[in-house]
Amino acid sequence: MEFRNFHKIAFITLLFCVPFAYGWGIDGHLIICRLAQLRLSETAAEAVSQLLPAYANNDLGSVCSWADRVKFRYHWSSPLHYIDTPDNVCTYEYNRDCKDEDGIQDRCVAGAINNYTTQLLSYGKANSASQYNLTEALLFLSHFIGDIHQPLHVGFTSDRGANTIDVRWYRRKEVLHHVWDNNIIETAEQRFYDSNVDELIDALQKNITTVWSKQAKAWEACSKTACPDVYASEGIKAACDWAYKGVKEGSVLQDNYFLSRRPVVNLRLAQGGVRLAATLNRIFR
Ligand SMILES: [Zn+2]
Repeated sequence: MEFRNFHKIAFITLLFCVPFAYGWGIDGHLIICRLAQLRLSETAAEAVSQLLPAYANNDLGSVCSWADRVKFRYHWSSPLHYIDTPDNVCTYEYNRDCKDEDGIQDRCVAGAINNYTTQLLSYGKANSASQYNLTEALLFLSHFIGDIHQPLHVGFTSDRGANTIDVRWYRRKEVLHHVWDNNIIETAEQRFYDSNVDELIDALQKNITTVWSKQAKAWEACSKTACPDVYASEGIKAACDWAYKGVKEGSVLQDNYFLSRRPVVNLRLAQGGVRLAATLNRIFR
């Protein structure tokens, strides 16, 4: 897009919350943040409610896409939504991969999660308010723990996380990245949940407390305060095993792809929610 439209587009984006091509769409982030808020400890819930802006009405989900909307204003934040790994290698290593296009180390979604975790650890300590904007730190952290669970946010370098792979989603023209940000979730909502995101959230929440309850304990495990490297390694593996698999330029993706990948999306959304809560519970003790 042209530079002179920059302000207009940023404005329209703020008004209508149009999702961009990086990051789960609005619903993906909403789902993860809603699932997370249900699992907060009393202390963490209190800190989150103190830090949320008043317009959020104590609903973390409502501001979970804020980081996508400020990309124009905070231009520096764009590379913090993803990780580029070497093509076809299907592994992730922090020192090798966590950098931006200029090669500046730590500027990737894993580095951002570490950074905002550190900032939030200053909550309640003297002088923290003047040093950091902890409201923004909370909104960034909540968004980035979501993004790192979208398999194509830890994708190949040359196709920009499948942003350059043109496909059809049923009859619609899309790029593969967008299929994973939005289309799989949207189609699932339409087909199985009456087009109602709350019903999908309820279904995932139920699974977390029943069939996934044992696994959910393992998802939470982390010997530090935040464990983004674990999530990024899982992400590139899921990208290779499921997202990229069998897809080439011009592929038509329909029921076969949708039905076999939907469980992967559900799992990643659930893991994102459980781990965001666990991270916030470790930060605010
Ligand atoms: Zn994002």
